[in-house]
Amino acid sequence: LPEYAFIGRSNVGKSSLINMLTSRKSLAKTSGRPGKTQLINHFLINKNWFLVDLPGYGYARVSKSSKKKFQKFITNYFEQRKQLVSAFVLIDIRHKPQPVDLEFMQYLGEKEIPFSIIFTKADKLKPKAIEKHVEDYCNNLLQYWEELPLHFITSSSKTIGKDEVLEFISDTNDEIEKLRT
Ligand code: GDP
Repeated sequence: LPEYAFIGRSNVGKSSLINMLTSRKSLAKTSGRPGKTQLINHFLINKNWFLVDLPGYGYARVSKSSKKKFQKFITNYFEQRKQLVSAFVLIDIRHKPQPVDLEFMQYLGEKEIPFSIIFTKADKLKPKAIEKHVEDYCNNLLQYWEELPLHFITSSSKTIGKDEVLEFISDTNDEIEKLRT
């Protein structure tokens, strides 16, 4: 079955987003404490695709060796990904482009892994500011990329962007199915 991987810096709101997308309150553990999701979790959705919950990257307060271990873990997944269709890189909508995120997107580009950006915690900004932050972020990306990845604006606490993300996945799955037959 096709897989879609969700990844981002710790505390970006990944667990909350996964809970929103799967409509389950306590599926992925959320916590204010970074580094909670340490293993890869697969969630079967609608019996036709897997949501893959990858560990967060870019903790500020862990040792170099455990950082390396995480990196290895993540790259192992991407290198063995057979069913992976696309990754979603989560970015806190309030943040300016950060080296860890840019490096990670660079890595996906090098591996030719398709990805979209999911901006999280949109409820933390006013609508006008949302537009500006997203535009600034995208303009920054254009320094490194010829083409912008698709992006979604979400809030797990206000249930924003859920349908858009799920529709994208279901449309992509339909296309894959069509190509198969
Ligand atoms: P993870 O470490 O990436 O899995 O992040 P979590 O989902 O555990 O969320 C980290 C923190 O951000 C928690 O305190 C959440 O309550 C908060 N959070 C997550 N998503 C949202 C959101 O959409 N809006 C707001 N306001 N807070 C959020």
